[in-house]
Parts: sequence; structure tokens; C-alpha cells
Amino acid sequence: MCGIFGIFGHEEAANLTYLGLHALQHRGQESAGIASSDGRGLYVHREMGLVQEVFPQAVLGRLVGSAAIGHVRYSTAGGSGIKNAQPLVVDFSMGSLAVAHNGNLTNAEGLRKELEGRGSIFQSSADTETIVHLIAISRGQTLEKRVAEALGQVEGAYSLLFLMPDRMIAVRDPLGIRPLCLGKLKKGGAPVIASESVSFDLIEAELDRELSPGEMLVMDWGGVRSYFPFRREERRECIFEHVYFSRPDTRVGKGTVYEVRRRCGEVLAREAPVEADVVVAVPDSGVPAAIGFARAAGLPFEVGLTRSHYVGRTFIEPQQTIRHFGVRLKLNPVRSTLEGRRVVVIDDSIVRGTTSRKIVKMLRDAGAREVHVRISSPPTRWPCYYGIDTPTRGELIASSHTSEQIARYLTADSLGYLTLDGLQQTVAEVTGGTTPGGFCHACFSGSYPIPFAPTPSSRQLPLLS
Ligand code: AMP
Repeated sequence: MCGIFGIFGHEEAANLTYLGLHALQHRGQESAGIASSDGRGLYVHREMGLVQEVFPQAVLGRLVGSAAIGHVRYSTAGGSGIKNAQPLVVDFSMGSLAVAHNGNLTNAEGLRKELEGRGSIFQSSADTETIVHLIAISRGQTLEKRVAEALGQVEGAYSLLFLMPDRMIAVRDPLGIRPLCLGKLKKGGAPVIASESVSFDLIEAELDRELSPGEMLVMDWGGVRSYFPFRREERRECIFEHVYFSRPDTRVGKGTVYEVRRRCGEVLAREAPVEADVVVAVPDSGVPAAIGFARAAGLPFEVGLTRSHYVGRTFIEPQQTIRHFGVRLKLNPVRSTLEGRRVVVIDDSIVRGTTSRKIVKMLRDAGAREVHVRISSPPTRWPCYYGIDTPTRGELIASSHTSEQIARYLTADSLGYLTLDGLQQTVAEVTGGTTPGGFCHACFSGSYPIPFAPTPSSRQLPLLS
């Protein structure tokens, strides 16, 4: 999973891209990068780490020009490492080109073998590089023609930004699996593109609209032009963006992700009711649904777990093992909320089940009399091949266990999930745009909208939590 941001036609392009990426940091914490253009050439800086660490003022000052694209990365294909950090920048027959990609291509390995057979030399293991090679060998006269021709050959999920010295191109894949939206700065009107609208709030831009599936936007000094170069397909937006990935303040259609999650909590309270005294959330991902659940169930919503916001990527483990150390570093129970009470604990999803199991134990140790787990999405049974980091099928607890078995593993008094119908109806109602059938829900249903034969590497995606 990754976040992308771009701006065309503003003298502080790199600074605004830095801020745009900062608001997308939740989409990837592994590496960050910005490429800028001054109309003659491209300038780039990428490093492992958080946006704030990667771009001190001196570095940003070197990214001159009035257009820029940026990327925050959470590796799904190609593994981590600086070689796979983006934007990727290459020189080819038309000049310099920078690319930022969110998503996963499902036929990248086959294409790569073909390209290598024809002499292409790859510098990274990221699937994004395949697109660059296809653009380089295309005979199209303009960048937009080459991009359309290249993307006509790839399959999978992609939201993409391309930057050349004189233009920027944004593309959303034909099924619209990954998100991408267009906005404009309130002052001056420069066009901005981002994975989520939260980027626009920070830089005082207004959201214009989400890109349509299969839409290509070309931005240059002549303005913004929209094209639909691909065969029309049925919309299949990723439903897991609403469940877990997007920030709650992100706008989706006529609503927000917060509203979607709160309403999912309300529906969950009706679908999986339980007698209890208090509702608590696993912060931050479970908070909106817990608020909705409590409201619909007529129960108090209280803080039962607090979260440290200072958990770094590495920490020193104590010599003597402390029980549930990893989870405890991040979460700690609030005794006064829990002692002697029947507790409903809400989270957005169960992946392997290891976190939930530790949380249930933690709540009991802090005095909860009963612990009822409620999950504001259906059981996660299938891996994602379109850009969300999930483990292998065998590691997904719900792929091989019933709810009753999972409840026993968690040592919960009861376990309840939201139904897929409930989730789809709720997202469709709140956003007002996508019909209940317009989602990719392969992680819950196993119904993959892009058929493919899983490759060994795509079957072994690690879960980074
Ligand atoms: P687990 O212990 O594997 O069941 O992890 C469950 C937790 O992981 C929940 O709190 C989810 O919010 C969170 N989660 C769900 N999907 C992902 C993901 N793709 N990457 C990281 N965390 C996730």
C-alpha cells in the first residue's frame, strides 16, 4: 500500500508535495520520495523513513520547480529497500520521466520476463518499473499515448502519477480499485492529485472530484484534460480502504470514511447484538465503529485502551520477556473502565488473530468480567493481490476457522462480524456513488475481479503490522 501526491503549476511545488505526503503518511511509513520539475529537468530525493525525517528544509530547497510528484511506500510487491523507493526516475528517448505508483500489477512478472528477454535491464524489483520499460519501448508520439499503450498491457490495480519536465499525468486503473482524487489550490487554482482528500485540507486546496475508473488526466500549462484510453470496465473500488486503510477524515463521495465506519458500527450492533455494560475500541482503527455500535446498542462508549503514538519501527525488547510486550508497547488498558464490567471491544478487522488474542487477555487481566469481540468488517479469508499488504491464505485465521473456533482462540466470550451485505450497503449509502455491487471485496469473498494465476512471490506477501 502506498500514497501518492502531485501538483502542477505552483512555485512551491515541492513544499506542498511534502505537506501532501505528510497527510498520507498512514498509507506507508517505509520510504518517502519527491521528484520536481523546473520545466527543463527533474530533481529527485528518496530515502527510507518518514516524510518528516526524509525531507529536512535543505533537501526540500534543492527540489526546485513548479511541478512535483511524491510517494510514501509500504511495500507490497518487490520488497523493501531504497532501490524500490519511489518516485522512480529514468531517462529515455523523450527525456526524463518520474513515476509514483500505488497498487499491485498482477501480470508484472510475466511482462518483466518478456522485457528482459528483449534486452531490458531492470534496476529494481518493484512492479512499477515494468510500466517504465513499456513506456520506453512504445512508439507513441506523446507521453500520454505511450502511457496509454503501456497500461493497456498491464493488469492489476494502479493509481499512477507521471512527471516530465513539461507535464504531469495521473491515471486510475480501469476498475478503480485504488483511490485517486483531483483538487485545486484555493489560491491560484493549481491542480493537485492525491490518494486521499486529506492531503488537500492541509494545503488549502479544495476537492474537485474522484478520478473515474480508467480516467487519465493530463496537466500542463494549457490546463487539465481528461481522457478514457482503456476499454470500459465495471467499477470495483477497494472496500478495505473504507474498513481500515483510509484516514477517517478522508472524503468519499458525499460522505467521509469516518461516517462509513461509524455506520458500520451501528449495523454491526444490529447484526451481532450482545448484552454488555460498556463499549470500548481498539484505537485508532476501531474508534468510529465503536462509537456507532455504542449509539445503536444504547451503551456507553468509553476509553478502555489507550494508544502510544510514539511507537517507532524499532525498539529494544527487555531481557526478561514481558507478557504481550509488542502489543503492550502500543496499547494499555484503562482499569477504571473495565473492572467488573461486561465489555464489548470493537476493531475493524482480524487478520492473523494474534493482536485480538492479546487484547482480550489484556482486558481480562485489567478486570473485565466478560469480553465480547465485535469486528466491523466480514472475516478476512483471502489475500489481496491488488496492493493491500496481507499474509498468505494459511496465515489468515478466518480462512480455516469458523467464528466459534476463532472466538475460542481469542478466549473471547463471544465474537461477531459485520456481514458483507451490511458492509457494502453501508458504504454505498454513505458515499452515494458506488452501488453495492461496485466494490472489490476479494479479501472477504475470494471473488477476484482480475483473474490471474498467483505467483510464488505474490503468495508470500508478509504482513507488516
Ligand atoms: P492480527 O493480529 O493479525 O489479527 O491483526 C489485526 C490488526 O491489524 C487489526 O487491529 C487491524 O486494524 C490491523 N490490520 C488490518 N489490516 C492490516 C494491514 N493490511 N496492515 C497492517 N495492519 C492491518
